[in-house]
Amino acid sequence: MIMGRAKLLCLGGCREVGRSAYLLNIENKSFLLDYGVLLNDVPLFPLHISPNSIDAVLLTHPHLDHSGLLPLLFSSRISPPAYTTKLNVEILEYLILDMMKLSGNFLPYEVEELYKAINGSSPLHYKEELELEGITVKALNAGHVPGSCMFLLESKEEKIKILYTGDFNTIETRLVNPVDMNEMLSECPIDLVVMESTYGDRQHEDRRLTEKNFVESVANHVEDGGLVLIPAFAYGRAQEILHVLYKYLNGLEIYVDGMAKQVSLELLNFKEFLRDGEFYEKALKRAKFVRGPKDRKKILKTGGVVISPSGMLKGGPSTLYARYLAERGNGAIFLVSYQIPNTPGDYLLKYGKLDPGSEKVKCDVRWFDFSSHAGKNELLDFITKIVDFSGGRTKVVLVHGEERAIVTLEEELRSRGIEAMGPKNGDLLII
Ligand SMILES: [Zn+2]
Ligand SMILES: [Zn+2]
Repeated sequence: MIMGRAKLLCLGGCREVGRSAYLLNIENKSFLLDYGVLLNDVPLFPLHISPNSIDAVLLTHPHLDHSGLLPLLFSSRISPPAYTTKLNVEILEYLILDMMKLSGNFLPYEVEELYKAINGSSPLHYKEELELEGITVKALNAGHVPGSCMFLLESKEEKIKILYTGDFNTIETRLVNPVDMNEMLSECPIDLVVMESTYGDRQHEDRRLTEKNFVESVANHVEDGGLVLIPAFAYGRAQEILHVLYKYLNGLEIYVDGMAKQVSLELLNFKEFLRDGEFYEKALKRAKFVRGPKDRKKILKTGGVVISPSGMLKGGPSTLYARYLAERGNGAIFLVSYQIPNTPGDYLLKYGKLDPGSEKVKCDVRWFDFSSHAGKNELLDFITKIVDFSGGRTKVVLVHGEERAIVTLEEELRSRGIEAMGPKNGDLLII
């Protein structure tokens, strides 16, 4: 690596998925890229950083593995300015309040700091150029969830341009537009890419095929009078599934429960972040919101489709439906997101039980790949194009992936002659 135009201090999110936090130093100015937590029974945090030493915080999106510790930066008198899209700030409030309910005792901040963080965040638009401390900062659509962004930072003085991808997707989903590759390539040459690697060792099935198998399976159960539970994260996945169901099965009774209701309504105020806001509005109007235990009882009797958090059956109304289906068996549980090891969702897929002490579930259980992350081929394609358009000078730092994903991607990139590295937490990279 060339000496000293920029430094990257890896605070978390290296060789793991969770607690993403990277301190990028250019021209002696420090930018904190995301500040997340790793959610476990006891949440894990990135390495300590003093808010005074940060000139600005850039938040890619409000998933807690990127945002969960942000309020901590607002607990001292002087806090750094934060920048992200307006929608990200809105969703941040829902997700952090929800985490505080579950893990509040373990978090080093209170609700007051959350609202300081919200008020201390300045909204930015995609493609808008900001001058922060002499560095040009630009946010681009990341295609991961509505409002998610990547950040480009450029120093004219040091003649260096850096891309931090955050979580991203280059294939089109129902809910959001993918990364605009032409726009990305028009930003080249890019000297350094700090890239997520979640699916560095795995390919996704073709998305349209997943959708087809999914809706057919849902329809089969509902036609038989069964109930199909789709445990889904309240922000992003719940709405993606709603889109898919409405597109193919709009005659069906689709229920939405838990926090997915509020988040779904909130997104109506931010249709500019959706691929087809009008279609989304129609789908949402057709869906029925579950208002409480009475409604739930009725649904258990009549059947239909319920989209409900949590996506890994760790809490929220999805657990109620799951217990019912496990006992009665009249229907299915269709998991539609990555299941973190040792969550009830993961246990269900591996052993067909909701927990070690229970019986095998009587309902149908399946998993469908509705990932909002780029798969292995997309990651390789993305980075290879950038390297080509940058005349081969781009270096790659791989983060946000389990060990195996990072190593696989690292080897693959090196075999293509691309300089890639997968640092560890605590590493300081001189670029
Ligand atoms: Zn994410
Ligand atoms: Zn993430």
